[in-house]
Amino acid sequence: MNPDNVAAELFRKQNPSNVKRGGLSSGGKMKLASRIFVNAPFYRERKTDLSAVADPENAQGILIMMDGKALCKAEAIPAPEWYSEKVGEFKITQILTAHNHQLAGSVYEDCALFALRKECKFCVINRSVQGKSPALVNKTAKLMVEALDKIPVEEYGGLTLNGGMTLKPGRGMERIAPVVKEVSAKYPGLQIGVEITPPADLDWINRMADAGTASLMMNLETWDGEIRAKMIQGKNEYCPKESYLAAFERAFKVFGPGKVSTCFVVGTEPIESLKKGISTVIGMGVVPSPLAGRYFEEIADYPFAPKVNWRDFLEVISFAGAEAARLGLKTMDKAGCVACGMCDLIKDVVA
Ligand code: SF4
Repeated sequence: MNPDNVAAELFRKQNPSNVKRGGLSSGGKMKLASRIFVNAPFYRERKTDLSAVADPENAQGILIMMDGKALCKAEAIPAPEWYSEKVGEFKITQILTAHNHQLAGSVYEDCALFALRKECKFCVINRSVQGKSPALVNKTAKLMVEALDKIPVEEYGGLTLNGGMTLKPGRGMERIAPVVKEVSAKYPGLQIGVEITPPADLDWINRMADAGTASLMMNLETWDGEIRAKMIQGKNEYCPKESYLAAFERAFKVFGPGKVSTCFVVGTEPIESLKKGISTVIGMGVVPSPLAGRYFEEIADYPFAPKVNWRDFLEVISFAGAEAARLGLKTMDKAGCVACGMCDLIKDVVA
């Protein structure tokens, strides 16, 4: 949607360090009609059918408009008080941010694929730390724990840790596992979800669980073979589709039902191949997380311009819900995108 200046300022406070992630950072987090939490993409340049304008009756409020008419009232979710904290020289929001009732941070805020010029077309994981301290690119367990010590952790349902891939057998798990281990030792009640590529050595999945990971998200992104080769070139090379399927099988055994999920970027492929992917993963006990692809207009030459029709998106979500119901799949995730539920609607149809 297109925000006016007041709405844009309310949303800016939600992401003061301007961290960039796929769905996590590019939107405005709001409560619609007093009960539905969403993270809606907003654009200053690209024209959309919806706009968000200041609600004259509420300082935190916005009106969602279409064709000059207000569709519904919403409230921008206020930035938590701890957003003003610092951890050493860093703003705390460079380390962790809040997403609804979840916390999220990137352990390895880069990816080996950028150096190889084979990164996924839509990926922005390395953008917010360019030119910044290496300590932010590779966050240690100590830094994460110091950040958590300044947050009322008990107010949050879970913590999501992610990171780009490496070319090691853990494909990045080897960087995240030690952080999970220390965080879960200090905060044993905190559910930790990890979002990462599937490892070449499947034993890393067991190691992640041993470290204290509660759930695992390994993102297929797109199902069609030809599109995978173009859209996620390096990932497709180092983590081919078969490696995902093998990792899903192992992860299902290790974490149990409803604890393994995979994101599909809606807008990368025709609906029919997307549906095939969704059916396949549901058949393996994996929760699909279809997310509408987002566009980063402030990034020069951003190569991915998804056009997601909302009717197609609803069709995909309804299909996923029907398939999950048919096979009795439910999500048990307490952390991660599925649990957060602001970009991701799947919890509403498979809970
Ligand atoms: S593998 Fe992940 S981190 Fe690396 S470029 Fe692709 S989406 Fe980004």
